Amino acid sequence: MRVVVTGGAGFIGSHLCDHLIGKGHEVVCLDNLITGTTANIEHLAGRPDFKFIKHDVTEYIYLDGKVDAVMHLASPASPKDYLRFPIQTLKVGALGTHKALGLAKSKKARFLLASTSEVYGDPLEHPQRETYWGHVNPVGPRGVYDEAKRFAEAMTMAYQRFHRLDTRIARIFNTYGPRMRIDDGRALPTFVSQALKGMPLTVYGDGSQTRSFCYVSDTVDGLYKLLLLNYTDPVNLGNPDEVTILKLAQEVGEMAGIKPRIEYRPYPEDDPKVRRPDILIATTRLGWKPAVGRREGLAKTFEYFKKQGAEPQPKN
Ligand code: NAD
Ligand code: UDP
Repeated sequence: MRVVVTGGAGFIGSHLCDHLIGKGHEVVCLDNLITGTTANIEHLAGRPDFKFIKHDVTEYIYLDGKVDAVMHLASPASPKDYLRFPIQTLKVGALGTHKALGLAKSKKARFLLASTSEVYGDPLEHPQRETYWGHVNPVGPRGVYDEAKRFAEAMTMAYQRFHRLDTRIARIFNTYGPRMRIDDGRALPTFVSQALKGMPLTVYGDGSQTRSFCYVSDTVDGLYKLLLLNYTDPVNLGNPDEVTILKLAQEVGEMAGIKPRIEYRPYPEDDPKVRRPDILIATTRLGWKPAVGRREGLAKTFEYFKKQGAEPQPKN
């Protein structure tokens, strides 16, 4: 296949490019580098089966040649990033998704949307099943991301129903691993950076809120399997091993060989209290379940950050 990956220079996108190339496909990576970096894909430069085009996908996408699949991952993804880039986040979820769908339609290609567990908002159903419609505050700070992704899902379904486009929707839950930015503000890289520098770990609220962290190789494997499967309704991709944020901070501290000091900070507005995917559909239909446990995944991620240094890397 010749696969277009939007957001391919980002954290998950770059691993997806590697995975696709490893499976023998050709990849065209489109990215405007707003939160990604060419450092994530520099090892692919010069390969005949990989092409990088710096492009903002909210603008018209023109590509020569055949395209078999479009995997649309472009979007700021960490709360710090989408609060820094609120308009760009809304634009890439809405206009960018429209352009990526338009490309897939004109090339008669399959389309996969990287959606998110954030479509469930601060959920009133737990764990979250794909049938849950969510509990999202449209005018709160997270609304720019959550509503953009909800719009993107609705747009994808409209292309499927109206244009008969062959589409997939992956609802990705918290994913972690090498190539996350140490300064992206998410809990895991923040804790690792703080632990490496011997600083207190900043826990928001009392740390009893939960998340379920999925190692990036599992997420990418799920995205690829979903692309190949004939299943057009949304599918949760995540690791159901739920943990409180306080426990995560302690685990990161242990990994660093320290007893971490915890500094409690105010709880962010609309921050979900719980999150855990129900992965029945992924396991039964995709034959997918996460293979990497948190201990192993954390160790690999920790090593990566240690090698990189606890400071942010120069950009591009
Ligand atoms: P990331 O910020 O590392 O990657 C996103 C990439 O999209 C970046 O390289 C960025 O430069 C690019 N991009 C953004 N706007 C663009 C535009 N207008 N045109 C072209 N490129 C653009 O984030 P990530 O964690 O790798 O997330 C990738 C995708 O997965 C996102 O769509 C995100 O919503 C989704 N997702 C991620 C997680 C997670 O835990 N990481 C969870 C749920 C969903
Ligand atoms: N969080 C925290 N300390 C930090 C960064 C985040 O306690 O330094 C909390 C955050 O409030 C949330 C959880 O950790 O409850 C996960 O946050 P993250 O930004 O990693 O992901 P998301 O909220 O998008 O799931």
